[in-house]
Amino acid sequence: MNTNALKDALVLGSGPGALSIAAALANEKLSVEILSEQSPNEPWPFTYGIWGEEVDELGLSDLLEHRWINTVSYFGEGDKDPNSKKNEATHHNRDYGLFDKNKLQAYWLGQCNKAAIKWHKGSAINLETKDLISTVKTSTGQELNARLVIDATGYKPVFIKAPDQGPIAVQTCYGIVGEFNAPPVEQGQFVLMDYRCDHLEPEERKEAPTFLYAMDMGNGKFFLEETSLGLSPPVTLDELKRRLEKRLENRGLEIKSLQHEEHGLYLPMNMPIPDLTQPVLGFGGSAGMVHPASGYMVGSLLRRAPKVAKALSFAMKDSKASSASLAKKGWEVLWPTELKRKQAIYKFGLEKLMRFEEELLRGFFIEFFSLPNKKWYGFLTNTLTLKELISAMWQMFKKSPWSIKHGLMRMRGRELNLLLKVFNN
Ligand SMILES: Cc1cc2nc3c(=O)[nH]c(=O)nc-3n(C[C@H](O)[C@H](O)[C@H](O)COP(=O)(O)OP(=O)(O)OC[C@H]3O[C@@H](n4cnc5c(N)ncnc54)[C@H](O)[C@@H]3O)c2cc1C
Repeated sequence: MNTNALKDALVLGSGPGALSIAAALANEKLSVEILSEQSPNEPWPFTYGIWGEEVDELGLSDLLEHRWINTVSYFGEGDKDPNSKKNEATHHNRDYGLFDKNKLQAYWLGQCNKAAIKWHKGSAINLETKDLISTVKTSTGQELNARLVIDATGYKPVFIKAPDQGPIAVQTCYGIVGEFNAPPVEQGQFVLMDYRCDHLEPEERKEAPTFLYAMDMGNGKFFLEETSLGLSPPVTLDELKRRLEKRLENRGLEIKSLQHEEHGLYLPMNMPIPDLTQPVLGFGGSAGMVHPASGYMVGSLLRRAPKVAKALSFAMKDSKASSASLAKKGWEVLWPTELKRKQAIYKFGLEKLMRFEEELLRGFFIEFFSLPNKKWYGFLTNTLTLKELISAMWQMFKKSPWSIKHGLMRMRGRELNLLLKVFNN
């Protein structure tokens, strides 16, 4: 291979977005280079959760570090009496897992290394696109050329432009790993959302609702995270910490040893779909791929990267294809009309939930999780067709009590505009 030849793709970043697309391109036998501020071996800061069925279908269950069968949520009000109906669990009847983040990284890195992808360390600061060649300049003055640049630099991308669609809802979390005087969740249990709120004063319940995301990590260790689903402006970390402490105190729980404290986790939920005519392609957080209702993305990266890479590999067979036309092809596959419409439904849903007070929100989730298992799972993993998604939402609407129907129908703020986007894409 002529190493000085113009590379097919230059990928920017070394997070899950960058590594997944670089690996998929390499698997298509395209020549790829990566430019990132950190070494690709640098451990990622987050641990990623995923539903068991998603990894099973991808044949990647061995990348999980933990897997829970006992998966529940709590949407009752909560009560001091543990046997009260207000403490009743909603059983999800499906597995949930946490990736071993080192294994996930190694999975993609292994594919990149097999193709001898060259890594450049540095920060991209400028991009110039001239017909067949795109050139990225780095902060150290290096110039890197490729037929196509893929910007996978996360939620504040260096080059990807997106329309301003108003405030971004941000998920915030405050989490701890530790040992407690008594198990905060059942042994071997995973709690997706505990919205019980009997530890809050009536006035506090009028504020933005938050929930507990919690799991038994084994060996007496538990991970507890007070989370705000998404809000603009976001719920502060101090407030989340205060609420977690109050929640624990109400249940008579004390921290015996604190092994890890997670501060400052901000996750933008309703990122706009970028401008799909720009001559640079995005992937991952930069491309608006995060699921607006769950904040999850890794399953989507694993499913969508091979499709984008295949389309690019085909388009690159034409040696006269310009950078702009290659980017266009990539955007088309990444954001086909059906996915854009589904994204509009998710964004509308999140906007609704942000305005629901705690009682309505708890009622909404009771209805949502009483949908057939395949349907709520398909909603959360973005694996339903548009038709199936609409039918699931309609099914839920029909069987919901009037208070929830009213909440869903009442259009406030930008909700109507978001709903219209379902048809305008
Ligand atoms: C707290 C939190 C928890 C999450 N939990 C989950 C979860 O449980 N499950 C799930 O599926 N998803 C989860 N997500 C969502 C999503 O999977 C992650 O945000 C994921 O890290 C996004 O990957 P990314 O590669 O797009 O961006 P990032 O991981 O942010 O990576 C961006 C990369 O770009 C590099 N970079 C930045 N600027 C430049 C530049 N100018 N030049 C070169 N390189 C640059 C950075 O160094 C970095 O390597 C979570 C997100 C957050 C924030």
